[in-house]
Amino acid sequence: MARHGAGRHPQAFMRNVIMAIILSATALCAGAQESDGFKYSDEKFADLQMLRYRVDGFESLPLQEKKLIYYLSQAGLSGRDILFDQNCRYNLRIRRMLETVYTDYKGDRGSKDFQAMTEYLKRVWFSNGIHHHYGCEKFKPGFSREFFRKALLSVDKKKLPLAKGQSVEQLIAEVFPVIFDPTVMPMRVNQKDGDDLVLTSACNYYGEGVTQADAEAFYSAQKAEGDAQHPIMYGMNSRLVRENGELKEKVWRSGGLYGAAIDRIIYWLGKAREVADTPQQAEVISTLIDFYKKGDLKTFDKYSILWVRDTLSRVDFTNCFTESYGDPLGMKASWESIVNFKDIAATARTEKLSANAQWFEDHSPVDPRFKKEKVKGISAKVITAAILGGDLYPSTAIGINLPNSDWIRKEYGSKSVTIGNITDAYNKAAHGNGMLSEFVIDQATIDNINRYGDACDELHTDLHECLGHGSGKLLPGTDPDSLKAYGSTIEEARADLFGLYYIADPKLTELGLTPNGEAYKSEYYTYMMNGLMTQLVRIQPGNNIEEAHMRNRAMIAHWIYEHGKADKVVELVKKDGRTFVRINSYPALRTLFGKLLAEVQRVKSEGDYEGARRLVEDYGVKVDPALHAEVLARYKKLNISPYKGFINPEYVPVKDAQGNITDIEVRYGESYEHQMLRYSRDYSFLPYVNE
Ligand code: ZN
Repeated sequence: MARHGAGRHPQAFMRNVIMAIILSATALCAGAQESDGFKYSDEKFADLQMLRYRVDGFESLPLQEKKLIYYLSQAGLSGRDILFDQNCRYNLRIRRMLETVYTDYKGDRGSKDFQAMTEYLKRVWFSNGIHHHYGCEKFKPGFSREFFRKALLSVDKKKLPLAKGQSVEQLIAEVFPVIFDPTVMPMRVNQKDGDDLVLTSACNYYGEGVTQADAEAFYSAQKAEGDAQHPIMYGMNSRLVRENGELKEKVWRSGGLYGAAIDRIIYWLGKAREVADTPQQAEVISTLIDFYKKGDLKTFDKYSILWVRDTLSRVDFTNCFTESYGDPLGMKASWESIVNFKDIAATARTEKLSANAQWFEDHSPVDPRFKKEKVKGISAKVITAAILGGDLYPSTAIGINLPNSDWIRKEYGSKSVTIGNITDAYNKAAHGNGMLSEFVIDQATIDNINRYGDACDELHTDLHECLGHGSGKLLPGTDPDSLKAYGSTIEEARADLFGLYYIADPKLTELGLTPNGEAYKSEYYTYMMNGLMTQLVRIQPGNNIEEAHMRNRAMIAHWIYEHGKADKVVELVKKDGRTFVRINSYPALRTLFGKLLAEVQRVKSEGDYEGARRLVEDYGVKVDPALHAEVLARYKKLNISPYKGFINPEYVPVKDAQGNITDIEVRYGESYEHQMLRYSRDYSFLPYVNE
């Protein structure tokens, strides 16, 4: 649904979601998450679990970079309410009502109603609104109208978001249907074919009464007049409204819509500019400030180009209207921010792979006709996130690839990063969730996964991203789109197989990327277990596998299973009525990965649509209902939350007697609710009632 789909690297984004299963498979051992004294896992509620991430390396940054991160993190938190309002025009008011009752209610706080309201509020904080962050459906409150009405009437009305002259009863009459009536604003983003997607979506990107046809006509007219070679991101930074019968854009900028929050962002960006890493970065920040001031989308393109070209600054950030998943038409961009700095050691790892790209291409098991004579590896930058804001908080991606503008990507390239400390936090939090002891066949395999799983999983991702996608070539005359709907599954399979084949190669030990010839087995086991069994926990009973990354994993695992059957390379065995994957020969498994890589590359290089269709349909789509039911039942017992999000660290300036900042301290101890209430107190700059 995104117009470009680039922003969150699809792989990374999916991994973010699938993570819960794969990564929970690559770790074990109760209490392991506490092993380095850091509390990665925090509270669980509804279908959510809160995690924490560590900002390793922050303490040893120079003071200038610490200040830069601090100022950018303030800018990154100042736009929080923009996203709440973008998601639904009642969100800010509902949040304020809930928070006031939560902090000030004098009645029975142990009652079922109060407890249910607390959970509802925690979900609203998490989703930046009253709709599910992933599924988009409106939450069902577990507390009664009557309870909430009485509670609202019992608190100081000065703390409630009343419009001018409005009584509390009038506020209740206006807002309660939005909370309690399931037919009012049921979906934040409605994608149902045939509906008027604008009228039926609760998001706040279009004013009342604006229809899908209105919006489409309005923007086609803009596009027809614009520069077709270098199109701006039409409609990206505004709400489209009807005023006096005419359609017009209310632009999000200083002095315009969301201006009060944007002014705070501009203020902090100004402070950051004074301590920028490089003159180029100072120019990036100046251009962004200029964009926030005027809202001109040509300035936004200029900013994007400067940002892509700034590769020397160690500290980097995004802070803008970025992703369009929240708009049913995929044009309006939700506000988000991340502040980060380069993880030098981890980036050296990907540079090593990329420096040896030609060796990997030359030694791969694919037909020489399909190999590149000259291959260039991609050196993915690994970053350490320092703060998450807006649409990246608390739920976040583990990789980012920006900018979104297609022509800028083509002419100037893009920055692709993986967020190392977020991946690490997912891994660490999965330790001890019971997944391994439930699904892995024996203790020796569990021990191996426990020892090497996290590192090999990261290495597999590096191989996939830095080498896999870039390897191989199409035969002359092959249409790159000839695999059609199977194209993305085949492409992901190609990159995964490249990684699987090479993770077992002695070359990696020689390069110092794997410790020994045993480590790769952890990745082989978890990959097969995931593809054959555990990823099924994301599929509803009776459904097929639809999503490309899941199809790719199922396809690889099932193809290998079938083709190794005669030699019993991989088996599904029963122990005490439970099914387990058993790998009898790891070297034979590697040979099979190599064979499939050769076949998948052939399919891609020749544009063999029929070959692609058979691979995907025969191995990647269908689900064995009995095994599926068994996996679901076993998973359910583990009580693992399907979605995770992050509590941010807190940055506290240390000042001398003159008020100069002498250091910035990073603190991790804050609870989820404390952080959310603090953000609501310190970063609420927008009026509650819609302009
Ligand atoms: Zn990929």
